[in-house]
Amino acid sequence: MVKSGKSFELLREVDHDGVLEAECGCCRLKEKCTQDYIVEVKNLHVGIWVCGLCSEVLKEHLSKNPEITMEEAVNGHREICHKLMRNLKSVTIPSLVTNPLAFHRENRPL
Ligand SMILES: [Zn+2]
Repeated sequence: MVKSGKSFELLREVDHDGVLEAECGCCRLKEKCTQDYIVEVKNLHVGIWVCGLCSEVLKEHLSKNPEITMEEAVNGHREICHKLMRNLKSVTIPSLVTNPLAFHRENRPL
């Protein structure tokens, strides 16, 4: 199978049913998805694949701030995610995803 250039550089094929492992461009969470779904998500987010949680955050952010573009929203959210990960090295992303309330309680600023 020929892959098209660099567009799938974050992806790794995990089986032969066309299921790929995609990595969130914001929080680095990995999810297994079909290629069609990956393309759909990337088209919605200026060519960047984002996980379900980040996509919900972006949707909400855009609905509250209609003046900003999707690109600005993705870049802003990515920066927040990266900052969080740098500051909270001991925190695993799955704990943020599975239990956001506990995550915020445990990791509130000092
Ligand atoms: Zn994410």
